[in-house]
Amino acid sequence: MKTEELLKFDREHIWHPYTSTLDPLPVYPVKRAEGVYIELEDGRRLIDGMSSWWCEIHGYNHPVLNAALEKQMRDMAHVMFGGFTHRPAVELARKVLSIAPEGIDKIFFCDSGSVSVEVAMKMALQYWYAAGRTEKKHFLTITKGYHGDTWNAMSVCDPVTGMHGIFHGSLPIQYFIPRPECRFGQECREEDLRELKECMAVHHADIAAVILEPIVQGAGGMWFYSADYLREVRALCDRYEILLICDEIATGFGRTGKLWAVEHAGICPDIMCIGKAITGGYMSFAATMATEAVGTVISSKDPYVFMHGPTFMGNPLACAVSCASIDLLLTYNLAEKIGNIEQQLKIELAPAALLEQVADVRVLGAIGVIEMKKPVDMAVLQAKFVEEGIWVRPFGRLVYIMPPYIISASELTRLTRGLLKIVKETE
Ligand code: PMP
Repeated sequence: MKTEELLKFDREHIWHPYTSTLDPLPVYPVKRAEGVYIELEDGRRLIDGMSSWWCEIHGYNHPVLNAALEKQMRDMAHVMFGGFTHRPAVELARKVLSIAPEGIDKIFFCDSGSVSVEVAMKMALQYWYAAGRTEKKHFLTITKGYHGDTWNAMSVCDPVTGMHGIFHGSLPIQYFIPRPECRFGQECREEDLRELKECMAVHHADIAAVILEPIVQGAGGMWFYSADYLREVRALCDRYEILLICDEIATGFGRTGKLWAVEHAGICPDIMCIGKAITGGYMSFAATMATEAVGTVISSKDPYVFMHGPTFMGNPLACAVSCASIDLLLTYNLAEKIGNIEQQLKIELAPAALLEQVADVRVLGAIGVIEMKKPVDMAVLQAKFVEEGIWVRPFGRLVYIMPPYIISASELTRLTRGLLKIVKETE
C-alpha cells in the first residue's frame, strides 16, 4: 500500500485520540523508531520530545527490551491469571514492591492507566464497604487533574480541562477543590490548604478517598505543586479516616527526578496507580498497588475477595518487558541522569520566559513546560515542529516536552532550539 492510500484509509476509517471522523487532525505515518528518533515514511527523522506520552523512557527499539519480549514469547505470550501464576508476574511483583514506597505491599496487575484508576477507586469503595462504612462512597480531588478516560476516572478529571466535560451530567458526583497554587519548591501557605481542610471537615463521613496526581499534574495542566501540600493531604487523610490514592501513572519510574513523585514529600499513599513507563513504553500495562491494611480489610468481609479480574491480567509478555525495563532503569544513576536533563531544560527553555506570548516556563525533572498566554493551534504547531525535525504535541496553552531519559545533551539542545524557534513565531 502506498503512503497516500494508507493515509486515505486512515482518514476515512480510523479514530485517533480525540479526533473527528469528518475533519480529522493530520497524522504522520511512522515507519520505524529507534533511540530518540521517530522515522516517518518519507524518511524524515524526528527527535521525540514526548516519549510517546510519558512511556518510552529508554527510547524506541531497545535491544534489551526487544530481547526480553522475544525470550518470553518462546515460552508463552499469554496465559490466564485466574488459577495460574508465572515467573514473569512474580518477578515483576517482587521488583516493583521492592522499589515501591515503604508501606506498599500488594499489587494488582491490569491493562492500562485508566483501568488502574478504576481498580484503585473500586478498592477504596470495597475497603469502606468491608469496614462497614458504606456511606463513604465519594472521592475528593483537586481541579486540573487527569486520571484517564474510563467512567470513574473521568469523574475525577478536571470538569473543564479534563476533556470529559460533556459527560459530567451522567458521571458520579465527586468533591472538587481548587488545585494548590503553591509551586513545587515553595512552602505551602494556610490559604492553599483552606478549601482542602474545609471540605474534609464537612464531608469526611462520605469521602472514601482523596485521589490526585502527586506533585505533577499532567494532561490537565502540566502543573508542579508544593511537596508540603501533599504531606498535608496525607496528614488530613489520616486524621479524617480517608484513604489516599496517588496516581503515579505519568510521574512514576523517575520522570520527576525521583523514582516516585511521592518521594518528594516522603509520604506513602494507601493505594497507588502505576502504568505508562512500566513496560518501557512497549505495550499497554499497568498496576494498582496497596498497603497490607487495604488488602486485609477488603478480604475480611463477604465477598472476601477483591471484585476485579481482567482477561489479560498479568500478561507474561508485559510482565517480562516490564522486568527488563525496571532492571535497565535501576542501572541508571537516576539523580544524575534526570538532574542533567533538568538543568539543561532550565537553561535552554529560560529565554522563552522573556517572550510576550509566554505566560510561564517551568521545569521539573525531565519535564519542560512553556505555558502560552493564548491557546495554540495544535495542527499548525505540530506541522512546524515536524519541519524542525522534532516531535512535540502541544494542547491548549501548553507546549511541553518530556523526552526519553536516554536523550543526549546535543539531541536535547536540538529539541529545545526547535521548540523555542516555533514558540517565538507563535502569536
Ligand atoms: N492517569 C494519569 C496521570 C495519566 O497521565 C493517564 C494517561 N494520560 C492516565 C491516568 C490514563 O492512562 P491510560 O491512557 O493508559 O488509560
